[in-house]
Amino acid sequence: MAKDDYKGIWIFAEQEHGSLEPTVLELLAKAQELKAHNGESITAVLLGCDVGQLAETLFSYGADEVIVADHPALKEYSARPYEKALTQLVEKYGPSILLYGATPLGRDLAPRIMVSLGTGLTADAIDLGFDEDGVFYQTTPGYGGKILAHIVILEKRPQMATVHPQICAPIEPRTGVSGKLICETVTVEADSDYEVIETAPAENAGKSIAGARIVVAGGRGVKSEEDLNQLRELAELLGGQMACSRPLVDNGWLAHEKQIGQSGITVKPDVIFNMAISGSVQYQLGMQNAKCIIAVNQSEDAPIFDIAHYGAVTDYRKLTAALIEELKG
Ligand SMILES: Cc1cc2nc3c(=O)[nH]c(=O)nc-3n(C[C@H](O)[C@H](O)[C@H](O)COP(=O)(O)OP(=O)(O)OC[C@H]3O[C@@H](n4cnc5c(N)ncnc54)[C@H](O)[C@@H]3O)c2cc1C
Repeated sequence: MAKDDYKGIWIFAEQEHGSLEPTVLELLAKAQELKAHNGESITAVLLGCDVGQLAETLFSYGADEVIVADHPALKEYSARPYEKALTQLVEKYGPSILLYGATPLGRDLAPRIMVSLGTGLTADAIDLGFDEDGVFYQTTPGYGGKILAHIVILEKRPQMATVHPQICAPIEPRTGVSGKLICETVTVEADSDYEVIETAPAENAGKSIAGARIVVAGGRGVKSEEDLNQLRELAELLGGQMACSRPLVDNGWLAHEKQIGQSGITVKPDVIFNMAISGSVQYQLGMQNAKCIIAVNQSEDAPIFDIAHYGAVTDYRKLTAALIEELKG
């Protein structure tokens, strides 16, 4: 197929147990901007088992077309059957763009599709658009966040990217809107190497920080588990949730689900306290859209102060202790 024959903006409509991953609706919103530029229709591709009922939601959030591939082997996410199914659909329809959320599943599936189709993939894009020559580009932080790279996939199709969560807000759902529903048959079989018997939430995972209204986040400056408990107490007194930058996950004190940032979770709370966090580009990517950013750092040069609405240059432990005392009355 010639490069120019590939048409259509595809969104991989990730779902788990019949619920759409929130990033899908964000991608559909981003796709509206792309469509306004290249005029190509927006297709959401849904893989699973008995998931057709999600098509209505996808239409209301901006899909012109929904392709559903329903198959028992696609009930739970499994890399090889999903790869096979999506590859077959892409080969049949030939979209020019294919976007995935940069979720654990999206990050697992997209590189496999890249290999099976022999095309290009940008990881963790934080922006997408068309340049002055009409070339589709994906922007992603490179060299540890020191540069923003604009990546273009000139020759291969589809042009693919995993897209960082929360770079775009979903559109207001449209009522009474429908589109073209295509039910496709794919040839897949369950992965013979392993079988998913059951899925269950991780033990002690607690509530997701993604939807928290108040977040107290600790960074590398938190030197002991006792100090971490002090921050935990503050979070509890505020009715918020505890989170962290990457070093506290790396040292095993908190689960990866509590990590904010490019390779962690994106949060958008009303208030976030950043305690002893310098504010690396990768960290900021996960919290810069918080409504109120409070930074507490003993170094006045910490980059977190560049985006903070309120800041204190002090030992975070002293301020935390004072806040706890105040809240306890
Ligand atoms: C590809 C890639 C992806 C990454 N993804 C992520 C990610 O998702 N999330 C993430 O967080 N990082 C990520 N990182 C790592 C990131 O580059 C930084 O190393 C990390 O964010 C630093 O965490 P920090 O701010 O806690 O630590 P540091 O940068 O070491 O900062 C610690 C801060 O604590 C202050 N401090 C120390 N003691 C005190 C005290 N008693 N009181 C007050 N202040 C104090 C110091 O002044 C300093 O500013 C990623 C890196 C790469 C290359």
